Amino acid sequence: DMFFLAFVERVIRPSLRKDDIVLGKKLGEGAFGVVYRVSSSKKPSSKREGDLVLKKATEYGAVEIWMNERVRRACASSCADFVYGFLERSSNKGGEYWLIWRFEGEATLYDLMQSKEFPYNVEALILREVQDLPRGLERENRIIQTIMRQLLFALDGLHSTGIVHRDIKPQNIIFSEGSRAFKIIDLGAAADLRVGINYIPNEFLLDPRYAAPEQYIMSTQTPSAPSPPVATILSPVLWQMNLPDRFDIYSAGLIFLQMAFPGLRTDSGLIQFNRQLKRCDYDLAAWRKSVEPRAGPELRRGFELLDLDGGIGWELLTSMVRYKARQRISAKAALAHPYFDQEGLLALSFMQ
Ligand code: ADP
Ligand code: MG
Repeated sequence: DMFFLAFVERVIRPSLRKDDIVLGKKLGEGAFGVVYRVSSSKKPSSKREGDLVLKKATEYGAVEIWMNERVRRACASSCADFVYGFLERSSNKGGEYWLIWRFEGEATLYDLMQSKEFPYNVEALILREVQDLPRGLERENRIIQTIMRQLLFALDGLHSTGIVHRDIKPQNIIFSEGSRAFKIIDLGAAADLRVGINYIPNEFLLDPRYAAPEQYIMSTQTPSAPSPPVATILSPVLWQMNLPDRFDIYSAGLIFLQMAFPGLRTDSGLIQFNRQLKRCDYDLAAWRKSVEPRAGPELRRGFELLDLDGGIGWELLTSMVRYKARQRISAKAALAHPYFDQEGLLALSFMQ
């Protein structure tokens, strides 16, 4: 019936074709495709705004269409709103995959983290009217907590669907102005374990700055990708055994770290941190011991933020960034962590 649903959707969805799309500003260019802000000439009202996004993708486009269709049915709120995907044959090189989403907003978490105003710029986006409360660690902690909750909520949706993203990083987290929440984008490297799609990870797709230490998300003893019918039966078991979702949790932990420590938000800062952590055998407590005695004010402030409320932030962080995947907390368990028991950011709007 999944195929029937897909068929019905094909027929009733307004399908956009190449000639209906008006290209706007280029938003990104990776090894596997180019992304533009676009509008549809079929919808004159959208023309000047550019309310859609188009990715012209190469070989991984087919997988990305599959993942987006699946997300739309199973956990739509986790990711950018997918409209349509198709093979555009008239393009050069025997065709490209064209993928279309709604334009969610101007800024990724990466863009927002580059600003000196971070995390207050995010607070302004989520609450719209900014409070006149004094700035300080507690307020920053609440904003960061809200971002982490939104990110883990989106990840839990993907993982419960059987999808591992494998490229979680601030550049792939968009702030949706409509939902006033962060959503995940860029499913080009994702794996759907329940049906064996893109089962064997391509290391080439992984971003080494955010990748967990394990090279392969499934143990190397797992043979080659089972064919879809077998995978459907076996993969829940494989999922339990190998916990491939914990790959994304490690990446999300690094984002948590970057939010707490401004020095880790630059490329060089993150790369240096990764080197230090590796030297500590991926033991975050050992890393802290090694850097804290000679820490400058900025680093000390980051630890202070994570130590608020009896150190529950630090506790959550260390349960995400661990060498062994099986010792990392799941997205669902993380959402139930006491770190999120404190009043969230929205509670601020009721305080005067
Ligand atoms: P890639 O990383 O393969 O180039 P992405 O899917 O990550 O492609 O998209 C590239 C950039 O385009 C993103 O970092 C983001 O700035 C922007 N972008 C992608 N999808 C959307 C969307 N739905 N709404 C707004 N901006 C988007
Ligand atoms: Mg990307």
